[in-house]
Amino acid sequence: PEKWFGVVSLFPDMFAPFTQQGVIGRAVKSGKLSVDTFNPRDFTHDRHRTVDDRPYGGGPGMLMMVKPLTDAIHAAKSIGGENSKVIYLSPQGKPLDQAGVQRLANIDRTILICGRYEGIDERVIERHVDEEVSIGDYVLSGGELPAMVLMDAVARLVPGVLGHKASAVEDSFTDGLLDCPHYTRPEVLDGQKVPEVLLSGDHEKIRQWRLMQSLVRTKQRRPDLLNHLALTEEQQRLLDQ
Ligand code: SAM
Repeated sequence: PEKWFGVVSLFPDMFAPFTQQGVIGRAVKSGKLSVDTFNPRDFTHDRHRTVDDRPYGGGPGMLMMVKPLTDAIHAAKSIGGENSKVIYLSPQGKPLDQAGVQRLANIDRTILICGRYEGIDERVIERHVDEEVSIGDYVLSGGELPAMVLMDAVARLVPGVLGHKASAVEDSFTDGLLDCPHYTRPEVLDGQKVPEVLLSGDHEKIRQWRLMQSLVRTKQRRPDLLNHLALTEEQQRLLDQ
Protein backbone atom coordinates (compact mmCIF):
# COMPACT_ATOMS: atom_id res chain seq x y z
CA PRO A 1 0.00 0.00 0.00
CA GLU A 2 1.01 3.60 -0.51
CA LYS A 3 0.41 4.43 3.13
CA TRP A 4 1.05 2.18 6.12
CA PHE A 5 0.15 2.96 9.70
CA GLY A 6 1.25 0.81 12.62
CA VAL A 7 -0.92 1.70 15.60
CA VAL A 8 0.23 0.84 19.13
CA SER A 9 -2.94 0.71 21.22
CA LEU A 10 -4.50 -1.09 24.18
CA PHE A 11 -7.85 -0.90 22.36
CA PRO A 12 -7.27 -2.16 18.81
CA ASP A 13 -10.98 -2.94 18.37
CA MET A 14 -11.68 0.78 18.28
CA PHE A 15 -10.03 0.85 14.83
CA ALA A 16 -12.30 -1.80 13.29
CA PRO A 17 -15.22 0.46 12.33
CA PHE A 18 -12.80 3.20 11.25
CA THR A 19 -11.00 0.92 8.79
CA GLN A 20 -14.19 -0.70 7.49
CA GLN A 21 -16.49 2.18 6.61
CA GLY A 22 -16.74 5.05 4.17
CA VAL A 23 -13.79 6.69 2.45
CA ILE A 24 -11.24 5.01 4.74
CA GLY A 25 -12.92 1.61 4.39
CA ARG A 26 -12.65 1.88 0.59
CA ALA A 27 -9.02 3.01 0.78
CA VAL A 28 -8.17 -0.06 2.87
CA LYS A 29 -10.13 -2.43 0.60
CA SER A 30 -8.44 -1.08 -2.52
CA GLY A 31 -4.99 -1.45 -0.92
CA LYS A 32 -4.10 2.25 -0.88
CA LEU A 33 -4.03 2.35 2.89
CA SER A 34 -3.15 -0.24 5.46
CA VAL A 35 -3.51 -0.13 9.24
CA ASP A 36 -1.91 -2.75 11.54
CA THR A 37 -2.48 -2.64 15.28
CA PHE A 38 0.00 -3.70 17.97
CA ASN A 39 -1.45 -4.26 21.42
CA PRO A 40 0.95 -3.97 24.37
CA ARG A 41 -1.29 -6.46 26.19
CA ASP A 42 -0.14 -9.13 23.72
CA PHE A 43 3.40 -8.57 25.01
CA THR A 44 2.66 -9.26 28.69
CA HIS A 45 3.68 -12.49 30.39
CA ASP A 46 1.98 -12.33 33.79
CA ARG A 47 -1.32 -13.96 34.65
CA HIS A 48 -3.22 -10.65 34.76
CA ARG A 49 -1.64 -9.38 31.54
CA THR A 50 -0.77 -6.12 33.30
CA VAL A 51 -0.31 -3.06 31.08
CA ASP A 52 -0.29 -0.23 33.63
CA ASP A 53 2.23 0.78 36.27
CA ARG A 54 2.50 3.23 39.17
CA PRO A 55 4.20 6.60 38.71
CA TYR A 56 7.39 7.34 40.64
CA GLY A 57 6.79 10.15 43.10
CA GLY A 58 3.26 9.00 43.75
CA GLY A 59 0.05 10.82 42.99
CA PRO A 60 -3.16 9.74 41.33
CA GLY A 61 -3.34 7.83 38.09
CA MET A 62 -1.26 5.19 36.39
CA LEU A 63 1.10 5.13 33.42
CA MET A 64 1.43 2.61 30.63
CA MET A 65 3.81 -0.16 31.70
CA VAL A 66 7.13 0.32 29.90
CA LYS A 67 8.07 -3.20 28.71
CA PRO A 68 4.82 -4.22 26.96
CA LEU A 69 4.72 -0.75 25.35
CA THR A 70 8.28 -0.82 23.99
CA ASP A 71 7.86 -4.45 22.87
CA ALA A 72 4.78 -3.37 20.89
CA ILE A 73 6.73 -0.46 19.36
CA HIS A 74 9.51 -2.86 18.32
CA ALA A 75 6.94 -5.24 16.82
CA ALA A 76 5.53 -2.33 14.79
CA LYS A 77 9.05 -1.41 13.63
CA SER A 78 9.73 -4.98 12.57
CA ILE A 79 6.81 -4.63 10.12
CA GLY A 80 7.17 -0.97 9.13
CA GLY A 81 10.96 -0.91 9.13
CA GLU A 82 13.47 0.85 11.38
CA ASN A 83 12.97 4.08 9.44
CA SER A 84 9.28 4.32 10.23
CA LYS A 85 8.35 7.69 11.67
CA VAL A 86 7.16 7.30 15.26
CA ILE A 87 4.49 9.72 16.46
CA TYR A 88 3.12 9.92 19.98
CA LEU A 89 -0.37 11.43 20.12
CA SER A 90 -0.24 13.82 23.06
CA PRO A 91 -1.94 17.02 24.24
CA GLN A 92 1.60 18.36 24.67
CA GLY A 93 2.46 17.86 20.98
CA LYS A 94 2.45 20.29 18.08
CA PRO A 95 -1.18 21.08 17.23
CA LEU A 96 -2.21 19.35 14.01
CA ASP A 97 -3.30 21.57 11.11
CA GLN A 98 -3.77 21.00 7.38
CA ALA A 99 -0.16 21.99 6.62
CA GLY A 100 0.98 19.39 9.16
CA VAL A 101 -1.33 16.81 7.60
CA GLN A 102 0.19 17.56 4.17
CA ARG A 103 3.68 17.06 5.58
CA LEU A 104 2.71 13.74 7.20
CA ALA A 105 1.08 12.63 3.93
CA ASN A 106 4.57 12.50 2.38
CA ILE A 107 5.68 9.81 4.83
CA ASP A 108 5.03 6.23 3.74
CA ARG A 109 5.37 4.39 7.04
CA THR A 110 4.19 5.88 10.30
CA ILE A 111 3.86 4.34 13.75
CA LEU A 112 1.26 5.97 16.01
CA ILE A 113 1.49 5.47 19.76
CA CYS A 114 -1.82 5.86 21.57
CA GLY A 115 -1.40 6.75 25.22
CA ARG A 116 -3.82 5.71 27.98
CA TYR A 117 -4.07 6.50 31.69
CA GLU A 118 -1.81 9.49 32.50
CA GLY A 119 0.38 8.75 29.49
CA ILE A 120 3.80 7.13 29.01
CA ASP A 121 7.25 7.24 30.62
CA GLU A 122 9.24 10.31 29.50
CA ARG A 123 12.26 8.16 28.57
CA VAL A 124 10.14 6.14 26.12
CA ILE A 125 9.29 9.43 24.41
CA GLU A 126 12.96 10.48 24.35
CA ARG A 127 14.21 7.14 23.02
CA HIS A 128 11.46 6.07 20.61
CA VAL A 129 9.37 9.05 19.54
CA ASP A 130 10.29 11.31 16.60
CA GLU A 131 7.40 13.70 17.01
CA GLU A 132 4.51 14.49 19.38
CA VAL A 133 1.23 15.54 17.79
CA SER A 134 -1.84 17.05 19.48
CA ILE A 135 -5.28 17.29 17.89
CA GLY A 136 -6.30 20.29 20.01
CA ASP A 137 -6.17 21.96 23.38
CA TYR A 138 -8.38 19.56 25.30
CA VAL A 139 -7.68 16.25 27.01
CA LEU A 140 -9.10 12.92 25.87
CA SER A 141 -8.89 9.63 27.73
CA GLY A 142 -6.75 7.97 25.07
CA GLY A 143 -4.75 8.50 21.89
CA GLU A 144 -7.01 6.27 19.76
CA LEU A 145 -9.40 9.00 18.57
CA PRO A 146 -6.47 11.37 17.88
CA ALA A 147 -4.75 8.59 15.89
CA MET A 148 -7.90 8.11 13.81
CA VAL A 149 -8.19 11.87 13.27
CA LEU A 150 -4.61 11.96 11.99
CA MET A 151 -4.99 8.90 9.74
CA ASP A 152 -8.30 10.11 8.31
CA ALA A 153 -6.90 13.54 7.43
CA VAL A 154 -3.75 12.01 5.88
CA ALA A 155 -5.60 9.29 3.93
CA ARG A 156 -7.77 11.92 2.18
CA LEU A 157 -4.59 13.24 0.56
CA VAL A 158 -3.43 9.86 -0.77
CA PRO A 159 -4.00 9.92 -4.55
CA GLY A 160 -7.13 8.00 -5.52
CA VAL A 161 -8.61 7.81 -2.03
CA LEU A 162 -11.20 10.51 -2.65
CA GLY A 163 -13.64 9.70 -5.44
CA HIS A 164 -13.67 13.09 -7.08
CA LYS A 165 -10.23 14.39 -8.03
CA ALA A 166 -10.93 17.95 -6.98
CA SER A 167 -12.70 17.35 -3.68
CA ALA A 168 -9.64 17.59 -1.41
CA VAL A 169 -8.42 20.65 -3.31
CA GLU A 170 -11.67 22.50 -2.61
CA ASP A 171 -11.86 21.66 1.09
CA SER A 172 -11.35 24.23 3.81
CA PHE A 173 -7.70 25.08 4.63
CA THR A 174 -6.24 23.57 1.45
CA ASP A 175 -5.71 27.05 0.00
CA GLY A 176 -5.59 28.54 3.50
CA LEU A 177 -9.23 29.63 3.36
CA LEU A 178 -12.48 28.18 4.66
CA ASP A 179 -14.66 26.40 2.11
CA CYS A 180 -17.58 28.24 0.44
CA PRO A 181 -21.21 27.34 1.30
CA HIS A 182 -22.77 24.48 -0.70
CA TYR A 183 -26.32 23.86 -1.93
CA THR A 184 -28.17 20.84 -3.30
CA ARG A 185 -31.81 20.13 -4.25
CA PRO A 186 -34.48 21.40 -3.81
CA GLU A 187 -34.01 24.73 -5.53
CA VAL A 188 -36.38 26.32 -2.99
CA LEU A 189 -36.19 25.07 0.62
CA ASP A 190 -38.85 26.43 3.01
CA GLY A 191 -39.17 29.46 0.77
CA GLN A 192 -35.44 30.08 0.56
CA LYS A 193 -33.88 29.95 -2.89
CA VAL A 194 -30.43 28.72 -3.91
CA PRO A 195 -28.15 31.71 -4.78
CA GLU A 196 -29.02 32.68 -8.35
CA VAL A 197 -25.42 32.62 -9.62
CA LEU A 198 -25.18 28.85 -8.95
CA LEU A 199 -28.02 28.28 -11.43
CA SER A 200 -26.50 30.52 -14.09
CA GLY A 201 -24.24 27.95 -15.71
CA ASP A 202 -21.54 30.65 -15.96
CA HIS A 203 -18.53 28.77 -14.58
CA GLU A 204 -16.26 31.79 -14.29
CA LYS A 205 -18.92 33.77 -12.42
CA ILE A 206 -19.53 30.78 -10.12
CA ARG A 207 -15.81 30.42 -9.42
CA GLN A 208 -15.55 34.10 -8.48
CA TRP A 209 -18.66 33.94 -6.29
CA ARG A 210 -17.30 30.90 -4.44
CA LEU A 211 -13.93 32.53 -3.93
CA MET A 212 -15.64 35.67 -2.60
CA GLN A 213 -17.74 33.57 -0.18
CA SER A 214 -14.60 31.77 1.03
CA LEU A 215 -12.84 35.06 1.64
CA VAL A 216 -15.76 36.66 3.49
CA ARG A 217 -16.31 33.57 5.62
CA THR A 218 -12.67 33.33 6.53
CA LYS A 219 -12.55 37.02 7.42
CA GLN A 220 -15.67 36.71 9.58
CA ARG A 221 -15.06 33.37 11.25
CA ARG A 222 -11.29 32.90 11.23
CA PRO A 223 -9.47 36.21 10.70
CA ASP A 224 -6.40 34.54 12.23
CA LEU A 225 -6.07 32.40 9.08
CA LEU A 226 -5.82 35.47 6.84
CA ASN A 227 -2.87 36.83 8.83
CA HIS A 228 -0.68 33.90 7.83
CA LEU A 229 -1.70 33.92 4.20
CA ALA A 230 -0.18 35.41 1.09
CA LEU A 231 -3.33 36.29 -0.87
CA THR A 232 -3.31 36.23 -4.66
CA GLU A 233 -3.98 39.49 -6.46
CA GLU A 234 -7.52 38.37 -7.25
CA GLN A 235 -8.20 37.30 -3.64
CA GLN A 236 -6.93 40.65 -2.32
CA ARG A 237 -9.08 42.59 -4.81
CA LEU A 238 -12.23 40.63 -3.91
CA LEU A 239 -11.55 41.07 -0.19
CA ASP A 240 -11.11 44.82 -0.61
CA GLN A 241 -14.46 45.21 -2.43
N1 SAM B 1 -1.34 13.45 31.50
C1 SAM B 1 -1.31 13.71 30.10
C2 SAM B 1 -1.04 15.17 29.86
O1 SAM B 1 -1.62 16.00 30.56
O2 SAM B 1 -0.26 15.49 28.93
C3 SAM B 1 -2.66 13.38 29.42
C4 SAM B 1 -2.97 11.94 29.39
S1 SAM B 1 -4.46 11.61 28.52
C5 SAM B 1 -5.61 11.37 29.84
C6 SAM B 1 -4.23 9.97 27.91
C7 SAM B 1 -3.72 9.88 26.49
O3 SAM B 1 -4.67 10.42 25.61
C8 SAM B 1 -2.44 10.63 26.19
O4 SAM B 1 -1.31 9.87 26.54
C9 SAM B 1 -2.53 10.85 24.70
O5 SAM B 1 -2.04 9.74 23.98
C10 SAM B 1 -4.04 10.95 24.47
N2 SAM B 1 -4.53 12.33 24.29
C11 SAM B 1 -5.33 13.01 25.12
N3 SAM B 1 -5.62 14.24 24.65
C12 SAM B 1 -5.00 14.35 23.45
C13 SAM B 1 -4.92 15.39 22.48
N4 SAM B 1 -5.52 16.57 22.63
N5 SAM B 1 -4.17 15.16 21.36
C14 SAM B 1 -3.54 13.98 21.20
N6 SAM B 1 -3.59 12.96 22.10
C15 SAM B 1 -4.29 13.14 23.22
